[in-house]
Amino acid sequence: MNTREMFKRAIAGGYAIPAFNFNTMEQMQAIVMAAVETKSPVIMQVSKGARNYANATILRYMAEGAVAYAKELGCEHPEIVLHLDHGDSFELCKDCIDMGFSSVMIDGSSLPYEENIALAKKVVDYAHQFDVTVEAELGVLAGVEDEVSSAESHYTKPEEVIDFSTRTGCDSLAISIGTSHGAHKFTPEQCTLVNGVLVPPPLAFDILHEIEKKLPGFPIVLHGSSSVPMDEVNTINQFGGHLEAAIGIPEEQLREASKSAVCKINIDSDSRLAMTAAIRKHLAEHPGDFDPRQYLKPARENMKKMYIHKIVNVLGSNGKLAQ
Ligand SMILES: [Zn+2]
Repeated sequence: MNTREMFKRAIAGGYAIPAFNFNTMEQMQAIVMAAVETKSPVIMQVSKGARNYANATILRYMAEGAVAYAKELGCEHPEIVLHLDHGDSFELCKDCIDMGFSSVMIDGSSLPYEENIALAKKVVDYAHQFDVTVEAELGVLAGVEDEVSSAESHYTKPEEVIDFSTRTGCDSLAISIGTSHGAHKFTPEQCTLVNGVLVPPPLAFDILHEIEKKLPGFPIVLHGSSSVPMDEVNTINQFGGHLEAAIGIPEEQLREASKSAVCKINIDSDSRLAMTAAIRKHLAEHPGDFDPRQYLKPARENMKKMYIHKIVNVLGSNGKLAQ
């Protein structure tokens, strides 16, 4: 399904839909198990990097498999969106739409304003013929993730959002208010030390509220919203990893954002950390194991636990299926 009804209900209900990226079968299974167990709608996203890694055709059939799997797990009416994350060209978006994606993002945020509008409008005009919803982006997030990277962030300018959303016809808008891509969102120097923990600068809720005033009820999307849980980082480092100064967005701030017009929150790095932590721990404790199922099973379990935690304790989308 596309995101239209899902987002309307999320804004009215004061919660956000989780958008989890997937590249592997284990991630896909963990996402579906978590969504079914919590009765949550879910957006499964595929990046350009995921398409390069896993193959676009395979990912498309995995998403179809995800819907069938959710039904097999006992969910009669699963609500699953297959979404392209950070489409960087009309051709890529068109390819995904032609393949059966129900939602795409066109990310022209690095382009000059008028070019961003022209590109987004072109994708919207094509996508809407097939009832595919389109997310566009205004403002630039800092950080590195897959093929998306920027050294600095530029907050979304609230004075541009009405013009941008009207002229592009986009269905949702990704904004920049201080979130960031990847597991190294902030340097220790940008943070303050509170009770021995590095706390990053707060999200710009004033900008979010200004945007909400300009576009009442319009779906807003937050990218780069992993929390980078310290216990996973510590497990990785304890069992031979070396992750320095990994700092994410505090979950309380995401919970606060979920209650506003923010109705889609993207989480990718936390899944990577949960998977890597479980694999490192298993292999360190069972050096004789060489069957991938032996270490991918605990990895899948750990991701599922993380997804459930996000759904229930951060986004509040549990129990929100329409039927
Ligand atoms: Zn992103």
